Amino acid sequence: MPVDPKEFFLVYALENAVTHNSVPKAGAVLGMLMGKHPEFRSQAKEMSAVLKDVLNEVEALSSEERVERLKKLSPEFFTHKDEKKEKVRGLRELKNVGENGVVMRFAPNPSGPLHLGHARAAYLNDYYVRRYKGRYILRIEDTDPRRVEPENYGLLLDDVKWLGINITETVYQSDRFDIYYEYGKKLIEIGGAYVCTCDSEVFRELKNSKKECPCRKNSIEKNLELWKRMLAGEFPEGTITVRVKTDMNHPDPAMRDFSIFRVVDHPHPKIDAKVYPMMNLSVVIDDHLLGVTHVIRGKDHIANTRRQAYIYDYFGWNPPEYHHYGRMSIGDVVLSTSAMKEGIKTGIYTWWDDIHLGTLKAIARRGILPEAVRNCMIDIGVGQTDIKFSWENLFAENKALVDPVSNRYFFVPSPVRCDIAGAPKVTAKALLNPNDESKGYRSLDFEGSLYACRDDLKDVSMVRFKDLFNATVKPEGDGFTLKYCGKSLEDARNKHAPIIQWVPAGKNARCTLLSPDSKMEGFCEEGVMSEVNNVVQFERIGFARIDSEKGGSVTAYFAHH
Ligand code: GLU
Repeated sequence: MPVDPKEFFLVYALENAVTHNSVPKAGAVLGMLMGKHPEFRSQAKEMSAVLKDVLNEVEALSSEERVERLKKLSPEFFTHKDEKKEKVRGLRELKNVGENGVVMRFAPNPSGPLHLGHARAAYLNDYYVRRYKGRYILRIEDTDPRRVEPENYGLLLDDVKWLGINITETVYQSDRFDIYYEYGKKLIEIGGAYVCTCDSEVFRELKNSKKECPCRKNSIEKNLELWKRMLAGEFPEGTITVRVKTDMNHPDPAMRDFSIFRVVDHPHPKIDAKVYPMMNLSVVIDDHLLGVTHVIRGKDHIANTRRQAYIYDYFGWNPPEYHHYGRMSIGDVVLSTSAMKEGIKTGIYTWWDDIHLGTLKAIARRGILPEAVRNCMIDIGVGQTDIKFSWENLFAENKALVDPVSNRYFFVPSPVRCDIAGAPKVTAKALLNPNDESKGYRSLDFEGSLYACRDDLKDVSMVRFKDLFNATVKPEGDGFTLKYCGKSLEDARNKHAPIIQWVPAGKNARCTLLSPDSKMEGFCEEGVMSEVNNVVQFERIGFARIDSEKGGSVTAYFAHH
């Protein structure tokens, strides 16, 4: 059957508009037609004209109308999409789930606020607790005094709250040092660990050549005595450690007699301690005593899982079920805690919520909802293949959530003031949200002059100011001469006039729209001033979170198209 290019364009443009809420660029659509149907290549000019009409038509439709049209033209678009979503949102089953469901944990180190990497662990574990019921422990792993600053606790708890995960109890490892010491002692008593006073370099060399260090042969009594003196603070940092007896012939040197306690000469904000457990010890003791049944964590913990198995064996405990997911690289933002901290100190970043950072605080500031992050992480899933985090997917998930509820406004960046000759004074009315008429209208009083984007007036002879009227445009000097030419939308469409946003010259708010790599300045509707903390859609520009308003000036952060 021969292809009807008009229908081809319409379906493609509608699919794009429904998925991304923006009309695609003409070049992309044209390229698609020519690629799939080379027979049209000789008619590029005619096709361009047909396409322009189609894109204008789609532009003028509301979101609902777009969906309706697309349902008629291409019902399979919807069935296909729904099936896909169903399939990817569910994760594989967990093995060995008991009658009481699961006990899982989210175990961040409070070295700074949480970022997208933490969100993955938090949401994957949360997913299973919701699915199988049970308990979800937030375990704050604050056993490295050099990486714990007092304010980090509050930052972390705020982030956990923002994530909206189903935490049933919170545990601080700094409250559990006596327990770790008790089990440390037990491990020494059963011959599973020894106290080592070798110089760390000497130990490393011995270890790398599969040789035992002299301390390994110490009697249990001697080890207990050293342990007592270690706890009493007799040894400075770096001179003593407790090691698990593993296998000095293990093919992986990292498994050979690893450390489980050390001395740290640095104050801890919550406790007065000298001897600190290493994570492999504290994690095993806690997972066991807190009854953790399943652990979903990153592949970077595989070596720890192997190390921890030695401790489980010595105590005769069953380890939880582990699942290690692949690495996730996150481009375009700063993630390293030390780089963030340094940047905040030197003023490169404003704070932890600076939009150049990959913290949850930064993405919240950019108008991303926690639910979008959750959906994204569940879609990414627990696969073991390393992946690259897709900001595009995160934006698409967020858009699906904000599009139905966010109010629409005009924002005019790089504005030029226009007096429209012959125009009547009118009040334009536009729906706050075309998907939800119950939200009502916003009204814009046109009193003779308005602001429009300079770029929108370039190279056109006529424009339609959205929801207002049409005007002819002529360049003049630095600006433009505009004349009223009627209010018919039909007429504007027939003449291929672009439909552009505007704000009244008298009533508006100054607006700065920031993204990680750009800054737009201009005017927006007055109504935006009452949207602080909300995500709105700036028509033809994209979604943005209104961050603040002061003295008639709005600062907004760009979220996505
Ligand atoms: N606190 C560790 C981390 O943030 C997690 C420990 C674990 O999952 O066992 O990497």
